[in-house]
Amino acid sequence: MADYDVAIIGGGLNGTSTARDAAGRGLRVILLEQGDLGSGASQASPRLVHGDLAGLERREFFRVRQALRERDVLLRIAPHLVRPARFAIPVHAGERPLWQLRSLLLLYERLASRSGLSRSATLDVTHHPVGNALKRPFGTAFEYSDCVVDDSRLVVLNAVDAAARGAEIQTGARVTRAERGEAWRLVAIDRGYRRVITARALVNATGAWTASVADTVLRVPAPRLVTVQISQVVVRRLFDCDNVYAFQNPDGQLIFASPYERDFTLIGSVGHPFKGDPAIVAMDVREVAYLCDAANRYFREQITPADVLRTVSGANSVVAAGRWRKGGGAVSLDSGRGKAPLLTIFGGDVTTSRRRAERAVSKFKRFYPMGPRWTATAPLPGGEFAWQRFETEVDIARDRWRFLGEHEARRLVAAYGLNVGDVLGDAREKADLGPAFGADLTGAEVRYLMRKEWARFPDDVLWRRSKLGLTMPQADRDALAAFMAKAD
Ligand SMILES: Cc1cc2nc3c(=O)[nH]c(=O)nc-3n(C[C@H](O)[C@H](O)[C@H](O)COP(=O)(O)OP(=O)(O)OC[C@H]3O[C@@H](n4cnc5c(N)ncnc54)[C@H](O)[C@@H]3O)c2cc1C
Repeated sequence: MADYDVAIIGGGLNGTSTARDAAGRGLRVILLEQGDLGSGASQASPRLVHGDLAGLERREFFRVRQALRERDVLLRIAPHLVRPARFAIPVHAGERPLWQLRSLLLLYERLASRSGLSRSATLDVTHHPVGNALKRPFGTAFEYSDCVVDDSRLVVLNAVDAAARGAEIQTGARVTRAERGEAWRLVAIDRGYRRVITARALVNATGAWTASVADTVLRVPAPRLVTVQISQVVVRRLFDCDNVYAFQNPDGQLIFASPYERDFTLIGSVGHPFKGDPAIVAMDVREVAYLCDAANRYFREQITPADVLRTVSGANSVVAAGRWRKGGGAVSLDSGRGKAPLLTIFGGDVTTSRRRAERAVSKFKRFYPMGPRWTATAPLPGGEFAWQRFETEVDIARDRWRFLGEHEARRLVAAYGLNVGDVLGDAREKADLGPAFGADLTGAEVRYLMRKEWARFPDDVLWRRSKLGLTMPQADRDALAAFMAKAD
């Protein structure tokens, strides 16, 4: 008998969502990730959970409605990671006319009928906080509701839930070979050791590596796909309000500027076809300048590429048919007599990731008895509260751990939801949490991340389980590295 029902290669959003879904339906699952969870494209998304307003202009009404439904599902099951935000589109004389924007928003809201999010509004930005950061000529903006997400924590919490339901999650495990017969026989280099695994079915969820894994590891025909890169830039905070700005660029693209980790602004996205090693994805200087120019067209505070503190880039595979855009994902199953099933899942956006995984796992129904679909109503770990109660949960945390500052409590609730207690335990004062590494990070949190969330190296903590790398001084990073090496 095979060791597992399903082996999944790739620990990005597609792989971990598939692992969670399959484990919850009673399948024996192993997920193998060559680096850290979310170390590929899944840490470089535009961080939006939305229906995609621009999709309406392309007349993709059905797809936008599906995405809006999924937005609401994610908000319900992950109210700590997914937060509602008011998006503001300043009206620019040279771009889409007022009537067109207004009709798009009305239709968008109609398609999102029961979301419970605030309705759209027309703002006179000369008398509204949204206008404070904008250049003079802007008199009007439209405001509507969508959501933002912590993309890499969504990946990790999918894995945490999969593990809680019996899946084995193995990071630092690179699959180098897979033989196909009645079952799959995989060879992985697992933290330096050769390991052989057998599974009744295999999932290729390797993102930008999909074609090369199909070709060189699985030795099956690669699916028709193209690889694209998307990038964002992080700069110091350019505005005080909590809105996400959606700017209409003269080339028709919508460029978003979002509050990022309290003190920063994330501006994106820009994309282009990608060739090369997906492990080395760097942003082009022209793209950095493009995003700075886009922001400068709207904001009073002008930025240059020298103001960019960090670039965030990822490469992923999308179906060969269209341009890079939402919905460019695919799920396909290959099976036959004497041929163990192979499922390939790639591309797509964060918003529809849960449903994509659900569709993928449902394709195995022909091969195994399994439980019904379940992920639309089951909260991710720590997400067992209504999204409207987020601030109440922050207050409750501050009440229980009185030494927490407001920002710190908000960061912890946003990361761990109702599981903050697993991180802080019965601490009565900050000193009970062990060494402090600056930027609010404590030994207790690092130990928790190493024990429960597969963190092994400082970058796993500083850039994927959190974004504290943005503010942590070098001396603290060195101390963190020493602490993690000892705790390993
Ligand atoms: C062009 C583009 C547009 C996007 N647009 C949107 C958008 O509009 N909205 C939105 O929300 N999101 C968008 N996204 C981002 C979206 O977040 C990702 O597409 C999504 O996270 C899917 O990730 P994945 O799991 O397929 O790939 P990845 O996160 O890259 O995961 C693949 C994993 O496989 C691992 N792997 C590879 N080979 C092996 C091996 N041999 N053994 C073990 N592991 C291996 C890699 O290390 C990697 O971690 C876009 C992304 C791109 C690139």
